[in-house]
Amino acid sequence: MHEKLTTRFAPSPTGYLHIGGLRTALYNYLYARNKGGNFLLRIEDTDLKRNSKEAAWAIVEAFKWCGLEFDGEISYQSQRFDLYKEYIQKLLDSGKAYYCYMSKEELEHLRAKQEEAKERPRYDGRYRDFKGTPPQGIEPVVRIKAPQSGEIVFEDGVKGEIKFKVEDIMDDFIIARSDGTPTYNFCVVIDDALMGVSDVIRGDDHLSNTPKQIVLYEALGFKIPKFFHVAMIHGEDGKKLSKRHGATDVMEYKEMGILPQALLNFLVRLGWSHKDEEIFSLEELKKLFNPYHINKSASCYNAKKLEWLNAHYIKTLSFEEINRQLKELGFDLAVYERAGFLLDLLRERAKTLHDIIKGAKSIVNAPQNYDENAVQKFINEENLHLLRAFSNALENQKTSKEFEEFTNDFLEKKQAKLKDLAQPLRIALTGSAVSPSIFEVLEFLGFDECKKRIENFLKIRGK
Ligand code: GLU
Repeated sequence: MHEKLTTRFAPSPTGYLHIGGLRTALYNYLYARNKGGNFLLRIEDTDLKRNSKEAAWAIVEAFKWCGLEFDGEISYQSQRFDLYKEYIQKLLDSGKAYYCYMSKEELEHLRAKQEEAKERPRYDGRYRDFKGTPPQGIEPVVRIKAPQSGEIVFEDGVKGEIKFKVEDIMDDFIIARSDGTPTYNFCVVIDDALMGVSDVIRGDDHLSNTPKQIVLYEALGFKIPKFFHVAMIHGEDGKKLSKRHGATDVMEYKEMGILPQALLNFLVRLGWSHKDEEIFSLEELKKLFNPYHINKSASCYNAKKLEWLNAHYIKTLSFEEINRQLKELGFDLAVYERAGFLLDLLRERAKTLHDIIKGAKSIVNAPQNYDENAVQKFINEENLHLLRAFSNALENQKTSKEFEEFTNDFLEKKQAKLKDLAQPLRIALTGSAVSPSIFEVLEFLGFDECKKRIENFLKIRGK
C-alpha cells in the first residue's frame, strides 16, 4: 500500500503572511489536493524572541481569508520541545551525535586561524571522538556526526539533480544549543518525518539547508522526502520582491479590495503555467497542478496583471461570493433593494471591491456634494439647459431600455449629442462623472428619484 502523499506549509511567524509564503502554501495545498493527500500547517515558532502568538494568528487569519483549508490540527513547534529532546537523546545514545565542550575562546581562536589560512569557517570535529573527562564549567552543545567527505546528492523536483561537495559545505553542525534547545534544521526534520511529510515544496532560499537536513534524515533512519525548491518572486526590476514593488502582506491585498480568487490565480502563475492559460479556478488548479512543472527561473511580480485578474473575478463570481468579500470589508450590498442589479451595473468597470463600494454608495445615496473637477470640466450653460429640458421631458420611464429610447428621441429633437447630456446627468445623479451605464443608473434609481436628484442639482446650479 502507498502512503498518503503529505505536504505542509511551515511558516515562521514574524508578523504577517508574505505573498511569497502564500504561493508556497498554495503549491503544497494544490499538490496534496491533486493527489487526494494531506496538507498540513505547522507554525515554526521556536524562536521565542521573534515569534509571537499574534503573528501565528495572523497567518491563520490570512489562510482563512484565502480559503485554503489544511488537514488536521495546526502544529506549533514551540509545543514539541520534549519530542525534539527525545530524538536528540536517541542520536546521542546511538553515537550519531555527541557533546561538544568547545569554549567560546576556543571557537574564536579556531575562526581566526581559519580566516588567516583563508579557509571556510567550520567546526573541526575536535570533540567528535572525545572520551575523556569533560572540562568544567562548560554547558556543551550537541553536534551531529556528519559525513566528512564525498557528496550529498538529491533530485530536486524543480531544479533537477543537486550536488553538494561535503568538504565545501559540511561540518558537524549543532543540533542542540547549550541550553538544550534544538536548532532549526533539526526541528524541521523531526517534524517532517514524524508528520509523514512526503513532499516538501518551499522557497529556494532553503536549498542550502537541504544537505544538512538530509544528513539528519540519514542519521535518524527516516525516509527522505521529495524536495521541490521554488525560485523566488522578483519585482519588475529583477530584484527580490519587497515592499517597494507592491504589498507583501496578504491581508493588505484584502484591504485593497482584491479577491482571494484573484490573488491565488495570480500567485499560481508566478512560477507555474498550463498551456497559455491565465485564468484558473481553485477547482481547476486542484486537477491541473503538478509541482514537476514549476518553472526553474524566478518569476516576476506584475501589478497590472493582478488588477486584470481581479477585474475578471469581480465580473464573473456570484453575487453571494462577492458580497461575502464585501462584508469582510464592512460593506453589505444585500441591504439594498435590487442589490443584484446594482452589482451587475457596477462590476463591469470595477477593478477592486472598493470600486464597487464607492460606486454603490454614490448611486444609492443622493449626492451631498458634487465633484468640483467634474463640474468644472463638464458643466456649462448649454448643457445645463439641456439637462433642464431633459428633466422636464422625462416621463415615467421604467427600464434602462425605455430610458435609452426616450433619451435618443430627446437628443434627436434637440439636435444634441449624448456626450452633452451624459456627463451632466451623471454628475447630477451620483455627484461624479464616473458611473456605469447611465441608463442602468436611471433604471436603478427610478423616475421619481432621478427627477429629484436632477432638480436638486439644477437648483444648486441656479437653473
Ligand atoms: N519556516 C521556514 C520559513 O518560514 C520554512 C521551512 C521549510 O519550508 O522547510 O521560511
